[in-house]
Amino acid sequence: MTQHAMNTPITLLTKAPKTLGHLYSLGLQRVFDLVLHLPLRYEDEGHILELSHFEPGHSGAALVTVVSREIRHQPRRTLHVLVRDNSGAISLRFMNFYPNQLPLFEPGRTLRLFGELRAGFHGPEMIHPRCYPYDEHDALPTGLTPVYPTCAGLPQHTLRRLTQKALSIFDIDDPLPEIWRKALGLPGWKNVLTTLHGPQNKASLIPQLMERLKFDELLAQQLSFQHYRRQRTLQRAPALHKTHVRTSQLLSQLPFPLTDAQHRVSAEILHDLTRSFPMHRLLQGDVGCGKTIVATLAALQCLDSGYQVALMAPTELLAQQHHQRLEAWLSPLSATCLLLTSQLKPAEQSRIRQRLSDGEIALVIGTHALIQDTLRFSSLSLVIIDEQHRFGVEQRLQLTLKGPHGMVPHLLMMSATPIPRSLSMSYYADLDISTIDEIPPGRQGITTKMVASHRRKALMHHIRVACQGGQQAYWVCPLIEESESLNLQNAQDTLAEWQRIAPDLNCGLLHGKLPTSTKSTVMDQFFKGQLDLLVATSVIEVGVDVPRATLMVIDHAERMGLAQLHQMRGRVGRGQRGGTCFLIYDTPLSDLARQRLKIIYEHQDGFTIARQDLEQRGPGDYLGSRQSGTPLLRFADPDRDEFWLHEARRYSEQWLDQNPHEAQQFAELWLGSRQPYLAT
Ligand code: ADP
Ligand code: MG
Repeated sequence: MTQHAMNTPITLLTKAPKTLGHLYSLGLQRVFDLVLHLPLRYEDEGHILELSHFEPGHSGAALVTVVSREIRHQPRRTLHVLVRDNSGAISLRFMNFYPNQLPLFEPGRTLRLFGELRAGFHGPEMIHPRCYPYDEHDALPTGLTPVYPTCAGLPQHTLRRLTQKALSIFDIDDPLPEIWRKALGLPGWKNVLTTLHGPQNKASLIPQLMERLKFDELLAQQLSFQHYRRQRTLQRAPALHKTHVRTSQLLSQLPFPLTDAQHRVSAEILHDLTRSFPMHRLLQGDVGCGKTIVATLAALQCLDSGYQVALMAPTELLAQQHHQRLEAWLSPLSATCLLLTSQLKPAEQSRIRQRLSDGEIALVIGTHALIQDTLRFSSLSLVIIDEQHRFGVEQRLQLTLKGPHGMVPHLLMMSATPIPRSLSMSYYADLDISTIDEIPPGRQGITTKMVASHRRKALMHHIRVACQGGQQAYWVCPLIEESESLNLQNAQDTLAEWQRIAPDLNCGLLHGKLPTSTKSTVMDQFFKGQLDLLVATSVIEVGVDVPRATLMVIDHAERMGLAQLHQMRGRVGRGQRGGTCFLIYDTPLSDLARQRLKIIYEHQDGFTIARQDLEQRGPGDYLGSRQSGTPLLRFADPDRDEFWLHEARRYSEQWLDQNPHEAQQFAELWLGSRQPYLAT
């Protein structure tokens, strides 16, 4: 297949090793990268100002005559040049200069210069202005001069020269089909590039130029994801037919009816499972909305067809909790469900591994590490990943977890951190998404209270009284980033403080460093009401479900992210009694921290919080590690450019249908080596 001319290595433009090194360090590998390395701003070198019109801090061009020049040693060797025009005089200062530059500053010569005026110690001056010889027959430069982002050692004029060379030696074919471009009212490729790199004037920098780049970028992203989706439909997965016996048995045995939303997403998932290509579905829904039962129903459909299921949780604690719950649900249906933890003796672990590969175990629950490691299944049909905030795992998973007869298992990912729609349409376009947008009825909700840190003692008193009255509380210790041991110290100190202040309460401690067996004993005691207060580090963030707990205190809440605060808070108010969450904050608060806490204080709905979180942090940060596998958008913002996102989606489908090769070439041009999916 021929590739677009701009998909050529940048070595076509220069062979100088130093320059190439700098270009690479800026991430410019191909001609295409260079032409999309856009100016930060433009300078108008042809617009001559009188010296008296310059203001400190502003740049501009002037025509001046040299009055005098002098080399001073003060202490560095410095060239001082005094220049004037009809309106006034300034001095020019050069710290680095070569002897061959001196003739330019011969007194009496006329210069054209461009620089930034500063209020120097001895009066107005310019440091290292650009100076050109000038005589009255010379034409003034026309158009604006681009100023590029660069690095030390790579001068502006080199970037300009290379960019212009790129634009002139290539026959700049428009990579987008002409009819579409016209239908969308977008300018041509050549026009966009030549204007952005050398506009005639400010007026020629019309917004449509950038719109074109945004659309093309989104289109490439959609093409890549849509292509990946299509590839997936060509793979084979076990088709799992719906049977109803055990499903209705499970449902009738639950102490609650499913919500409408749970029914709806279940139907979506169960339908996917009947198809003979792998499902890649994200099940998202706020904390406490009941994702676990939906996942269990999906698992049951697989078990019914005689296939195996693996459920992965991010922590052993959560894996254990899932095991307890699923076992209670599934054992009456005589389905075997086993927990694989690192706490088990090696012999026991290998026995489980053996039984899995022999097909004796239908459902295995464990952490990512345990399950991905070396497990072999005899008939794996579905992988469920709980609390999957760290997307991107799916690709790696496919390498290790294999279905029977070369088939690929279905994949269900669950997340309580909802992805705003615009992001799911762009960065998650390869996945199908099911959303539970309803919390089971009867929950009393959570009241959030803000407590300044100087009122900590009073709050402890309040919590103590509540616990004496039979309530249960979590006390979450501040997160000290990058220091596990400080986190631990802090939790231990807090526990000691509680034991001193409230010797009558039963207090427990939970942190990441505890052996899993201790963790689960502590959790179990708390679950059964044997502990009144649980001091914890953020290990309780994910998934822990103790419906009886009603109080949550988060110390130094200002150090935590919005999603994390929301997750933590979701641990209480799960039962019928409602809950209260106290956020202790240290004063003075930074503006950003104040805004964050305000959002948590004012909103309960995870989607609203996610939206605001995205607005505060921007998509790069919000997406977290998915971005490592997915190139971030540079020009488009899926949120602000939603119109283009929809168009891109529409055209990408059309293009892949009509001319997949051309479409792929386009995606390659934009995504280069960074495209994660086209390689599949
Ligand atoms: P999450 O979506 O956060 O993983 P869980 O699956 O842990 O939520 O469910 C939270 C709690 O709600 C559990 O105790 C679960 O048994 C209960 N639950 C789930 N679905 C319903 C429902 N339809 N009605 C009432 N309670 C439910
Ligand atoms: Mg959960």
